[in-house]
Amino acid sequence: MRRRAEVAVVGAGAAGLVAARELLREGHVVAVFEKSARAGGTWAYDPRADADPLGRGDHGAPGAVHGSLYASLRTNLPRQLMGFSGFPLAGRVFAGDPRAFPGHREVLAFLDAFAVESGVAARVRLRAEVLRVRPLGLGQGERWAVAWRGEDREVVEEVFDAVVVCSGHCSVPLVPKIRGAIWSLPFSSHLTAVIPDKTSCSNASMLVLWVTGIDQWPGKQIHSHNYRVPEPFRGQTVVVVGLGASGIDIAREISHVAKEVHIAARYSGDRLGKIELYNNAWMHGEIECIQDDGQVLFAEGSSVAADTILYCTGYRYHFPFLDLDGLTVDDNRVGPLYKHVFPPKYAPNLSFIGLPYKSIIFQSLELESKWVAAALSGRAPLPSEEDMMAAVREHYRRMEEAGKPKRHTHTLWPEWVEYLDWLADQVGEPHLEAWKSEMYEETLKRIWSLDEGYRDLWEEEEENIATGSP
Ligand code: FAD
Repeated sequence: MRRRAEVAVVGAGAAGLVAARELLREGHVVAVFEKSARAGGTWAYDPRADADPLGRGDHGAPGAVHGSLYASLRTNLPRQLMGFSGFPLAGRVFAGDPRAFPGHREVLAFLDAFAVESGVAARVRLRAEVLRVRPLGLGQGERWAVAWRGEDREVVEEVFDAVVVCSGHCSVPLVPKIRGAIWSLPFSSHLTAVIPDKTSCSNASMLVLWVTGIDQWPGKQIHSHNYRVPEPFRGQTVVVVGLGASGIDIAREISHVAKEVHIAARYSGDRLGKIELYNNAWMHGEIECIQDDGQVLFAEGSSVAADTILYCTGYRYHFPFLDLDGLTVDDNRVGPLYKHVFPPKYAPNLSFIGLPYKSIIFQSLELESKWVAAALSGRAPLPSEEDMMAAVREHYRRMEEAGKPKRHTHTLWPEWVEYLDWLADQVGEPHLEAWKSEMYEETLKRIWSLDEGYRDLWEEEEENIATGSP
């Protein structure tokens, strides 16, 4: 007989909504806790920014901004890759934006409609922040106490059979450690003026103090979490760190108003130097160090006097409501987790949806949700705790062998199709259609082309295919 569990879902973003749908479909009883005033998570654009532009404050703190979208954001995947089964984003218009790569309002309206049509909206408790999740009984999580604070500020504790964590991971900035140099005291006993060699981060003639560069650098510094519009960068020389989808979008947008844009990227490939597509943008290697005179030095040896450094360097996993024996976030690895979803010690009653990235996100949210729902009901039994731990260890071993750093534990690319197909096998779903993986890989290539028009060009090409135009 199938088990019918009472399940608390933490968060009503895309992950929480699809998790709730799958849990309901499997016959579970569901309560979705959402700390903000609406569902939609990331896709609910928030014009506010954190008080600290680098967002290094306490992210459990009330008032911390969850959203990381900029005003102009359009999806970086075509709408065919952003729907849920039985409820596609393609072929329908939800907020008057029919473009292949719609703006954020269209995705939010899609999620709103999805929540209503799937019956999930009625299960969402808004302004209900989960403060603490703790296992009851033997500490293995047979039952879970969920303490949450509602609109009236009162804290209530409720007991559930299971908790599904869908609290998102694009809110707490990951800011790299960058070396800084204070060109100060020569080794001689008396102070003399020192003219530093600006093209190098070290100089034998001087006592060079390596400090946390970020704290000493005199210009402005901001993480993309707090970037909303390009106007504040008008006339500036801006260094954009990172070459992910957001970094590319933001560098492009800023280049229309800034004096110069310099992209610093670890994997800049053979594209160092002036970017042909732009009048005022250059590609560099990663930042070697930043100096207290405002200079930014790049790995390939060039340097620039910048006004602002804009970090598009991703986010940290952060679960302020979880403090569990044996479950840690270490160098951005949440672990141990079996297939990014179940901590073996607490499985199946504690799970995480949406941790992996670099894949067709909505598809992976849905498949992970189906798996969790089926594992809870007993339809898809999990291996023993020991076997799950062995699989986790094997995953780490293969990462090490491949030289993949720990912080990339939850990056699916390039094995993202294998992961989705593996999930599909657990719940008897078909494997990913070939056109979807081709479309995804093609989109990645186009993002990397740095061509501003990749989204609209795609649209024109689709139309031409449909009309038979050349
Ligand atoms: P979120 O959307 O972050 O939702 C988490 C929810 O949990 C929030 O509503 C939050 O308020 C709530 N919450 C958190 N803590 C608590 C708590 N303690 N108690 C109660 N509620 C809580 N994906 C794509 O597929 N295509 C794209 O084009 C794309 N572009 C992106 C662009 C940017 C700039 C960013 C940042 C992300 C983008 N993504 C994109 C990825 C995006 O994160 C996912 O599409 C998806 O929105 C993730 O959903 P989620 O539910 O996991 O997290």
